[in-house]
Amino acid sequence: MFLLVAGSLGTAFWKQHQRLDWQARHIQRLEKKLAGLQDSLRLLGQQTRTLRALAGLPEQEDPQNLLGTGGLALPNDPVQRHIYKTDETLDRLLALTRYELLSLQNVEEALKRQQDHWARIPSIQPADGYITSGFGYRKDPFTGRIKFHHGIDIFAPRGTPVVAPARGRVVRIRRERGYGLTLELDHGNGIHTFYAHLQSVKVRRGQQVERGDTIAFVGNTGRSTGPHLHYEVRVQGRRVNPTRYIIPAYAFYD
Ligand SMILES: [Zn+2]
Repeated sequence: MFLLVAGSLGTAFWKQHQRLDWQARHIQRLEKKLAGLQDSLRLLGQQTRTLRALAGLPEQEDPQNLLGTGGLALPNDPVQRHIYKTDETLDRLLALTRYELLSLQNVEEALKRQQDHWARIPSIQPADGYITSGFGYRKDPFTGRIKFHHGIDIFAPRGTPVVAPARGRVVRIRRERGYGLTLELDHGNGIHTFYAHLQSVKVRRGQQVERGDTIAFVGNTGRSTGPHLHYEVRVQGRRVNPTRYIIPAYAFYD
């Protein structure tokens, strides 16, 4: 009788012990996996910091410094203590993940802003042809007097496509006495481009255009000695030399 009771007690104890042993081993495995996750997250953090530097964003404080450690006393029971610590580690990893995610979102936003900034700078010659008259003083072909030429003239056959040199919006299409049919694009940041002597316009006012989109066709309207495109770049309302804005690979000089 006594033996029987002791035997069943022993089995219960042994089962309890086995259960704890199983828990302890499992918790150890969880801790190893968490350590691996922590390492991956540290590498991800390093990559994010490199990307931030490439995107021209300021350095951020090491997120490990921003995380506090748990203030509660650890329980005495070793299994409970491990569970408690694992829980704390998971909280840290979650906070770190959110931090890196936000940091990467900043990188994406910065890159999009930069991309938009470059997309809006007029950087290609708006029509294939030869620049016959540059920016600056020249003899006026009609009066023979010396006069300042505020743009460049690109000689091209009638009907040659005129393309947008950058992302922008069509702000004006109108006929002007000297310039004939004209078109103006607003590229943002105070940069405008102006096209004159056009045969026809392919866009409407308010339309958004991208670099390379056909906006008009070369013509001979207004006071013009032959089919050509008169092209101006205006920065904060001041007309500047457009050749400074044309990347040489796209330019054709005679
Ligand atoms: Zn001109």
